[in-house]
Amino acid sequence: MASSHETPKKPDERPGKSLLDRSYLVEIGKGLANTFMHMIGGSQTVQYPERTIYDYSERERAIGHENPRSRGEHILVEDELGREKCVACLLCMAACPAVCIFIEPEAAPEDWKDRDRRPKTFEIDMLRCIYCGYCEEACPCDAIRLTPKPYTVTTSREERIYDKERLLKNNPGYQTPQRPKK
Ligand code: SF4
Ligand code: SF4
Repeated sequence: MASSHETPKKPDERPGKSLLDRSYLVEIGKGLANTFMHMIGGSQTVQYPERTIYDYSERERAIGHENPRSRGEHILVEDELGREKCVACLLCMAACPAVCIFIEPEAAPEDWKDRDRRPKTFEIDMLRCIYCGYCEEACPCDAIRLTPKPYTVTTSREERIYDKERLLKNNPGYQTPQRPKK
C-alpha cells in the first residue's frame, strides 16, 4: 500500500532554491524585457501634479487636462453678491466620515435676509480628508464643491488645514453660480 505522505523534496528542488532561481538570471531577463518594452513604447512618466491622468489609454485627451469629474481640493462657493453660500447648517460636518470639517456658526448680519446663520469658522483638515465627496453631496445649497485641483504639496501640517478664506479662493475657476458641466 502506497504511503499517503509525499517524498520530501531535496533542498535544491524547492521553489526559489534551484541554481537557476538563485542566479536571478530569469528575473533579470524579465526586468530588462519590461524596461525595453517601456523604452520603445514611449515615456510612462506623468509629471504629477502639474499634469494629471485619468485614463491612460486615451493619452491625447487625458494627460495635461483636468478631469472635471475627479475629486480634488474643495472650494466654498460664493453667491452673486460675493457672500459665501454656506448657511452653517453643519450637514457636511455630520456627513464627513473622516471628521475633518470644523464649522463654528455665527448669526448672519441683519441685512442678510435670506439666512439666519453663516460660518464664523470653516476649516477642513486636508491631511485627514479622503476626498469622498460626501460633504458636497450633503450640502443643501451647493455651498461646497470638490474641484479637480490636485492636493497641494506643503512643508507643514498647519498649511494643510484650510480656513474659510483659503477655501473661498481655492481654484477660482470653479467659483461660479452654476455647477461646471461634467
Ligand atoms: S471629501 Fe469626504 S472626507 Fe473630505 S471633507 Fe468632504 S466628506 Fe470629509
Ligand atoms: S457647506 Fe453646505 S452643508 Fe456644510 S455647513 Fe455650509 S451649507 Fe451646510
